[in-house]
Amino acid sequence: MTARLEELRANLAEVEQRIGAACAAAGRDRDELTLVVVTKTYPASDVELLAEFGVTEVGENRHPEAGEKAADVSAPVRWHFMGGIQTNKAGAIARYADVVHSVDRPKLVASLGRGAVAAERDLEVLLQVDLGPAFEQASDGRSGAVPDDLAALADAVVENDRLHLGGVMTVAPLGIDPAPVFERLAAIAERLRADHPGATTISAGMSGDLEAAVAAGATHLRVGRAILGERPPLG
Ligand SMILES: *Cc1c(COP(=O)(O)O)cnc(C)c1O
Repeated sequence: MTARLEELRANLAEVEQRIGAACAAAGRDRDELTLVVVTKTYPASDVELLAEFGVTEVGENRHPEAGEKAADVSAPVRWHFMGGIQTNKAGAIARYADVVHSVDRPKLVASLGRGAVAAERDLEVLLQVDLGPAFEQASDGRSGAVPDDLAALADAVVENDRLHLGGVMTVAPLGIDPAPVFERLAAIAERLRADHPGATTISAGMSGDLEAAVAAGATHLRVGRAILGERPPLG
């Protein structure tokens, strides 16, 4: 356990150094960024260790793994859900998630909304944007709404008193320069804020591309491997 604690501490320090350097290069303040540590495939005990040195935002991408971990962890962390969601699982996810990064269709908004009302919980919602087609990438099966659909989705979110529109999220398509992708997301976020001034979150950047996300104005980074270690291939 102590060895794991030291490993996590060192990795987190290294990531903080990268974020600091990216902020310095971009003329940004570290306070403008929230680091979400993505613990998928790793045990609840790792979340407890991370919480010991101040991690408060934790990311997961699969149900029911995320819910089981949320039930097991007693440290006061906030749970960010960032994976594809089957509509019939949305109610269960609304019972433990604090922020959902992967909202991409009206049916999912409706189901999350019903779940949040039933659970008497407030849920922050980010609209996931699929920028693959905009960069001539074949869709690789990742979820996300096309930019033209965001305004209607945002309107659906704000109709529900338990859902709060936080902003936008994207996963940069593999194999292309992420910088223009994250710049496009920032422009989309700015347009959304014209109608929804509270939608200030721009969730972009992972272990491999966080510097490009910081440079493009991201507010939230979702970092897994660089802190927890390489994950075994999905079975
Ligand atoms: C796993 C995951 C991450 C973290 O990716 P790393 O490469 O491990 O940093 C970020 N966002 C989403 C949506 C993920 O599923």
